[in-house]
Amino acid sequence: MALVDRTPPRPSSRRGGAAPGPRLDVERIRRDFPILATQVRGKPLVYLDNAATAQKPRAVIDAISAYYESDNANIHRGVHALSIRATEAYEAARRRIQALINAEAPEQVIFVRGATEGVNLVAQSYGRPRLRPGDEILITEMEHHSNIVPWQLLCEQTGAGLRVAPINDRGELRLDEFERLLSERTKIAAFAHVSNALGTVNPVRELAGLAHRAGAVVLVDGAQATPHQAVDVRQLGCDFYVFSGHKMFGPTGVGVLYGRRELLEALPPYQGGGEMILSVTFEKTVYAALPARLEAGTPHIAGGIGLGAAVAYLSQIGYDAIAAHEAALLEHGTRVLGEIPQVRLIGTAAHKASVLSFVIDGVHAHDAGTVLDQLGIAIRTGHHCAQPVMQHFGVPATCRASLAFYNTTEELDVLAAGVRKVCEVFGV
Ligand code: PLP
Repeated sequence: MALVDRTPPRPSSRRGGAAPGPRLDVERIRRDFPILATQVRGKPLVYLDNAATAQKPRAVIDAISAYYESDNANIHRGVHALSIRATEAYEAARRRIQALINAEAPEQVIFVRGATEGVNLVAQSYGRPRLRPGDEILITEMEHHSNIVPWQLLCEQTGAGLRVAPINDRGELRLDEFERLLSERTKIAAFAHVSNALGTVNPVRELAGLAHRAGAVVLVDGAQATPHQAVDVRQLGCDFYVFSGHKMFGPTGVGVLYGRRELLEALPPYQGGGEMILSVTFEKTVYAALPARLEAGTPHIAGGIGLGAAVAYLSQIGYDAIAAHEAALLEHGTRVLGEIPQVRLIGTAAHKASVLSFVIDGVHAHDAGTVLDQLGIAIRTGHHCAQPVMQHFGVPATCRASLAFYNTTEELDVLAAGVRKVCEVFGV
């Protein structure tokens, strides 16, 4: 039986105003994720911390095991059978990722450790040789620290200035301000596709258009987009796009930097070492072509192969079905949490991914998280590596339930019951 029923949903099966689309066989999908059957503190695990890291389907776990059990060898430089097989599996993963994001060519998919390393690579290899005092980098108030700190480092190194486009009280980017802050001084505009702390989905194409008109190069942090929605880097019109494997059901320690070819080709190597050279003498090293030039050293081979398996799994389900299911989940979660008087949702953008950030009046987020953990519910509490967002909303921390396509409305009911229990425990 297929994971997705593609017959159009009958009107009665459409929950609330959620977008119609192919329906997921969620029970079947859940069986693909062994960890979802786990009991935590004697209760069935309710895993709602997907924005921190997503769970892995059997297909990913098996791909990693199969590599270590049958094909383990270093890639690219071996002439023996195992090395050839490992190289083929690794490069097949690159091609799958290329197809997923609609990159022009596989060599525009650079394997990195994750979104963080992708941003740092662009900051150091693209930004550092080019930026001068007086130049500016434009980011937004909703960025994850990994799309703030690398730019601050670059500013310290080059004398460039950092500008920050503000958000409104729904957690949406102020487009007027973003546009106002762009000028001929702006050399780089870097912003999230989807905010991890708020769930806000940014209008990337529009933002990229504005930034390009000002002459800036555009980097999009897609760490929270690729688990939820189709990404077409050419349609988005970005110059660089970064994301992490582990947030999209693949392994930790591997991610992707996509770049437009002419930009990647102009980048000096980020790191030197093996794999990234054509020839080395003590006088001169000639660098290899893309993607090797930007991938020094032995990569996370099992990670790349595992990410390829995650991409294949996601492609089999399809982002239309994922988006339709998650829209229904978000709507349900917003309603059941919204019915609790002590709960205030943080991040109510009109265009939102399946993230529910909230505070409970009179209860610190960490205390709430600890009580919920006793009930088997895993959420994240804290600043979510987005301290400026917390500052905007005047809170030290939020509780964040972040959803994936394997979550259910029943789990959100368990969360809401858990939050009521928190209120009871703390007498608020
Ligand atoms: N950007 C966003 C929006 C994120 O949510 C995260 C991680 O939470 C990152 C970047 C950094 O990802 P990683 O730690 O996998 O490099």
